[in-house]
Amino acid sequence: MNIGIIDADLLDKGTNYPNLALMKISAYKKEQGHFVNLLQSYNQFFNFDHVYISKVFSFTKIPEYILDKKNITIGGTGFFIDGGKNLDWRYEHHMPDYNLYLEYVNNKLVEGSSLRNFDYYTKYSLGFTTRGCFRKCNFCVNKKYDHPMAHSPVSEFLDTNRPYISLLDDNFLAFKDWERILDDIESTDKPFQFKQGLDIRLLTSKSAKRLSKTKYLGDFIFAFDYIKDRNLIEKKLNLWREYNHRTTKLYILCAFESQDEKDLVNIFERLKILMSYGCIPYLMRYQKYKDSIYKDIYIQLARWCNQPQFFKKMSFREFCEANQYYHKNKKTLCKAYKSMLDFEIMFPLIAKKYFNLKYEKINRYF
Ligand code: SF4
Repeated sequence: MNIGIIDADLLDKGTNYPNLALMKISAYKKEQGHFVNLLQSYNQFFNFDHVYISKVFSFTKIPEYILDKKNITIGGTGFFIDGGKNLDWRYEHHMPDYNLYLEYVNNKLVEGSSLRNFDYYTKYSLGFTTRGCFRKCNFCVNKKYDHPMAHSPVSEFLDTNRPYISLLDDNFLAFKDWERILDDIESTDKPFQFKQGLDIRLLTSKSAKRLSKTKYLGDFIFAFDYIKDRNLIEKKLNLWREYNHRTTKLYILCAFESQDEKDLVNIFERLKILMSYGCIPYLMRYQKYKDSIYKDIYIQLARWCNQPQFFKKMSFREFCEANQYYHKNKKTLCKAYKSMLDFEIMFPLIAKKYFNLKYEKINRYF
């Protein structure tokens, strides 16, 4: 059969991370003797006997006529909020097809894109060593399993020619045998990362010490989703800093519980804590921020927070002032400066308390 593979996220807005499920389906189908191709446009749809289509994001758009076709199989969290039916184990535990995206990457390089944009397609082995999470956070798609469980030994997805490993585990530290799995990962001697971050609330002296000694790739990433967890998070950040002084990033979820000034205060309170532990944030805006009257402030906060060179050097006020300084039309206000001023007029006390916070002044590890 002639089998087509559609990574719908890639064809819509683009993505810098390959779809692992599709890579596994491709590998299995090729092994069965089928011809498999990644579609680079929906125009190619009619050339195939059967098409597998997957999307990770619910907002990814696909042409309506596709879903009426009989010769398609759909999957992924973008279609099914709980991820839908599991992949058959023959696919799930198959070595991914690391060649699936090569033609796409080559075409992009010919068009002038930089190879660095495709590191996850060309340099990483990808897989889950564990799956599942017990927390069931409201905003998260990981609700299928009640607890984490071992999923794949690293050898199941390791491409020895690739220098790095990217792991997609949902909550690695929640798995009781995480040390054994870490032994397995480290036995490859390859630098690795947990792409989804680690659960800092589960950190212990043992795990902090052990992780700090690994060949961890890039920033360590944790999450600080709710201000109500502040005491626990601070305790764990203290513990982490006993063993580790590398760049540490925490996802800051916002606009989920509310999209008002209270939510903005909660963001700033969490940023202040991160500053004091020499950590950097990554503001994760829940889509509802777009409906907020403070939408512009959310956007400017993300522009400031999510670029470490700005977050580490400037207060929020300085960031907005710098935007105004470089604004081309000096007779008008840029969006950053205007949204800051508008908010300050409405909530002067909040502005006074938080707009001048500065990483290098508060960071106790500086
Ligand atoms: S801890 Fe992480 S993986 Fe687990 S449910 Fe919450 S957001 Fe999802």
